[in-house]
Amino acid sequence: MAPPVPGHSLAPMTQTSRSQMRPLHVVVAGGGIAGVEALLALRTLTGDAFTLTLVSPAEQLHYRPFAVLEPFSARATRHYDLAEICADVGVRRHRDAVAGVDAEERTVVTEGGERIAYDALILAPGARAGVGLERAHTFFADANPDSLHWIVQELERGAVKRVAFAVPPGRTWPLPLYELALMSAARVREAGVRDAELTLVTPEDAPLGIFQGAGSAAVGERLERTGIRFVGNSYAHDYDGRTLALTPGERTLEADRVVALPVLTGPSLGGVPIDGDGFVHVDAHGRVPGLPDVYAVGDATTFAIKQGGIAAQQADAVATLIARGAGASLAAPSTRPLLRAVLFTGDGPLYLRATITGGESVVSSASRHCPWWPPHKVAARYLAPYLADRDESGRATARRHLRAVPSPGQPTAVVHHDGDPGGVELLGHDRR
Ligand SMILES: Cc1cc2nc3c(=O)[nH]c(=O)nc-3n(C[C@H](O)[C@H](O)[C@H](O)COP(=O)(O)OP(=O)(O)OC[C@H]3O[C@@H](n4cnc5c(N)ncnc54)[C@H](O)[C@@H]3O)c2cc1C
Repeated sequence: MAPPVPGHSLAPMTQTSRSQMRPLHVVVAGGGIAGVEALLALRTLTGDAFTLTLVSPAEQLHYRPFAVLEPFSARATRHYDLAEICADVGVRRHRDAVAGVDAEERTVVTEGGERIAYDALILAPGARAGVGLERAHTFFADANPDSLHWIVQELERGAVKRVAFAVPPGRTWPLPLYELALMSAARVREAGVRDAELTLVTPEDAPLGIFQGAGSAAVGERLERTGIRFVGNSYAHDYDGRTLALTPGERTLEADRVVALPVLTGPSLGGVPIDGDGFVHVDAHGRVPGLPDVYAVGDATTFAIKQGGIAAQQADAVATLIARGAGASLAAPSTRPLLRAVLFTGDGPLYLRATITGGESVVSSASRHCPWWPPHKVAARYLAPYLADRDESGRATARRHLRAVPSPGQPTAVVHHDGDPGGVELLGHDRR
């Protein structure tokens, strides 16, 4: 059996310890990566001891990582039906958005005006994506989702030459923009166009700076090899359709087209402490300060890294804390997340890892082969194997797989999907 994922300290649950647990009603607000991971973790860790309710306005779990392939192929973003997931996991579903929290009454208030009581509450409503740079094509928040596809075609025909890819200021996950730039460069190369000028503009001081060290160096080498110019320490703040204005300084960049990522803001829920951008304040364990038994995970929080794998680890840690609080004999969760990411380059994926302390990476690595299993783009302990089962064998198997999890005294069935298979060809590895 493969070892458990570094950064997790999940101990197997026994039937005895589960029967000694206090039954709780746990409400999860948000049916995205973090919310669904929390539900899977809670069901796996506590068996049937907890009643679980999902409050979410969406019908589907949107799995965004493949969205970057849409401008280049017919492959679409994946969606998974939340009603089916809830049926698999044994979760009550409430189709509404959470408007706020009444911590004194221990209820969530929905936009439809209903009040739902909780013993523990996990807020996972994600972030809001907005347009930060007028006249740019804002990936994932654009009124016309086909416009990037057209830009790629214009590049292939040689109809446009200069395209800038701009990472916005503020908290974001910049990796999809690197993928778009690298895959565009690959297309241009395949089309035999020699004089295209692709530029990546970013506030980061190094390529994918969160993987500072070996990971970032490998990304920088890919950019260089494909002829993408890297302009770091720069904010793109204005675009008139021809010229992109950069700060600091009064620099400009000529660009026929600009592709930008959306600016993210928090969900601004009532009765919940938020920062100036609407993100929910949390402590190192995901607890919302001042609100007993209320936790927040994922993109909705003040945590700097807005990434699905990180969101999933936060969800696992909070699920473990809640289960421990109800009497489960589980080891305390780690507060040191492991960042794992797949970078599509148009010339084979690059697998990046970094251990994160205080919102920054301390050790990073890059490899050409996936060092985790299943090799999902969102490296989530419970969600990745569950979705892998759904993708490969259909829903019935996925449900059986989940049911098989709580076997007495045994490691959870999903753990064997996780961990390093070994034999990884490292392109670079830090030891600091
Ligand atoms: C183009 C793109 C590519 C990406 N690629 C990757 C990748 O390869 N790997 C990776 O790890 N991450 C990737 N990410 C980041 C990843 O998608 C996010 O970090 C992750 O989805 C965050 O999970 P979340 O559950 O916090 O939020 P979300 O996934 O956004 O889910 C939020 C959920 O809450 C619901 N909701 C909203 N408001 C409310 C409310 N008021 N009450 C209740 N529910 C509400 C929404 O309907 C949604 O279901 C990518 C992001 C983008 C945009």
